[in-house]
Amino acid sequence: MAIATIEVDRSAILHNVDYFRQLAPNSELIAIVKANAYAHGKVGVAQLLADKVDGFGLARLSEAIELRDAKIKTPLVLLEGFFPHDDLNLLINHDIQTAIHCDEQIVRLNAIPKKNQLTVWFQLDTGMHRLGFRLEDAKANFTKLVNCQVVRKPINIISHFSSADELDSPQTATQLQRLDDFLASIDDKTLIGKCSIAAAGGAIAWPLSRKSTIRPGIALYGVSPFTNPMPELKAAMTFKSELTAIRPHKQGESVGYGQIWTSPRDTRLGVVAMGYGDGYPRAIPENTPVLINGRRVPIVGRVSMDMIVVDLGPDCQDQLGDDVIFWGKGLPVEEIANHTGISAYELLTRLTSRAQIHYVN
Ligand SMILES: *Cc1c(COP(=O)(O)O)cnc(C)c1O
Repeated sequence: MAIATIEVDRSAILHNVDYFRQLAPNSELIAIVKANAYAHGKVGVAQLLADKVDGFGLARLSEAIELRDAKIKTPLVLLEGFFPHDDLNLLINHDIQTAIHCDEQIVRLNAIPKKNQLTVWFQLDTGMHRLGFRLEDAKANFTKLVNCQVVRKPINIISHFSSADELDSPQTATQLQRLDDFLASIDDKTLIGKCSIAAAGGAIAWPLSRKSTIRPGIALYGVSPFTNPMPELKAAMTFKSELTAIRPHKQGESVGYGQIWTSPRDTRLGVVAMGYGDGYPRAIPENTPVLINGRRVPIVGRVSMDMIVVDLGPDCQDQLGDDVIFWGKGLPVEEIANHTGISAYELLTRLTSRAQIHYVN
């Protein structure tokens, strides 16, 4: 039994998929499982959802191949496309779909033997300005892709919002309009396949962004793409460890590296087997709460590689081996994100392989 444990409630993930199915009943759903399914274990999540979603979205070819090696037959999409040193035969042989965002990629497609076929997503830069064809030459590049013999027709369209979590920003409506203008500019509509622009934030907050396909990531795991927890979602992850020592501590004594905290009273400190070696960030400030026996207890001193220290209080009844929850049921990761200034996306995806994943329900 691992000490640092990522407990994943499968039924919560299924609940969150249902939430998106009801929210966007006419859209297909690509479940984003990049970064090891936001640390929930991509193979475990993919096995759970294999026949419940229309595809899985990934950021690296190696991630997609791991899913194929695990016998996952669901469509797989490389959201950032293939990379300069990626072997296109792997995409073809494993039937992996890819975004196409630049001319160099089209050149490589044209070099593939013509007997092969690849399903692609034409990536349009509607305003994120990170990847994708620019609007002014999008139509010409779309035509180039149409003329690529190895590209399966029709061609899917993908774009990405920069500010979907900012509910009063005009940017999302602008990006949607640019996408619609591009679609309207293609004369032969039979060349256009699926269309997707919404990740979780877009799908939830911007109904017009629910095109043929939505691509939620973080919210599938029950975490809000906005600042506060959403009651409609169920948090899948409980990240926890246990108390490994309980020590008397005197007023005026410090604890840990750099002596950054000094106790204002005589108390009892708990030592917890958790540190930045498990992915609990060293930047977590003291006073960040953890949950022990149902109550919030503050971290004191600096997070070290393998341990943190908490102030249990002078009258604590806690025992060695008691669970310590860093986030999950009873302590939303959104609250830790707001407290620490480290986004929930980063808190989740920083977790290391020393923290072991354990599925329940
Ligand atoms: C990560 C990602 C998503 C999912 O984003 P969430 O905010 O986690 O829902 C969707 N699409 C693309 C292109 C992404 O990179």
